[in-house]
Amino acid sequence: MTVHVIATGGTIASHWGGAEWTNIDGASLIAELGELPVDVHVTDVAAGPSSNLSVDQMVRIAHSVQTALAEGADGVVVVHGTDTIELTAFTAQLLLGTDDRRAPVVFTGSMRPHSHPHPDGPGNLRDAIAVAAASSEAARGRDVLVCMDGRLHSARFVRKVNAASVDAFDSYPHGPVGS
Ligand code: ASP
Repeated sequence: MTVHVIATGGTIASHWGGAEWTNIDGASLIAELGELPVDVHVTDVAAGPSSNLSVDQMVRIAHSVQTALAEGADGVVVVHGTDTIELTAFTAQLLLGTDDRRAPVVFTGSMRPHSHPHPDGPGNLRDAIAVAAASSEAARGRDVLVCMDGRLHSARFVRKVNAASVDAFDSYPHGPVGS
């Protein structure tokens, strides 16, 4: 079982070292999770705040997901800043469509930076990998998903609604598709 992780920066990767902010790469974010029950293949395709991503870069990230699936990934996780995660996730949804055989594609990020004493990133990333690695029908054949704070949202409905909470997303007028 191999999950491809595509890292694109965001708050989840932002580390305040006392003098400057640095971007933690995807391999380091994964290494910090300790032992995982799946093999993880990591690629870094962007860094920094997601509000800096151009539409071309969002399309490139969506194509990276498509490539990972074509290479045989059992699931794909995209690590992304939350300011525009809904845009890139929806771009990936448009590119991939809904296919009942498709492996899970799960976007995640965090509201607290990597250097926060109680970061939400590791839990979100661990959850996203668990969903991406799930071979059950509950995870396969879904829309592209956004996994935050224990909930899974469809890329077609998700939006950021509260920048002051780790529970920052909803799917109004629908509920989350999973937890
Ligand atoms: N400014 C950040 C970004 O979108 C916010 C975040 O990741 O939560 O990259």
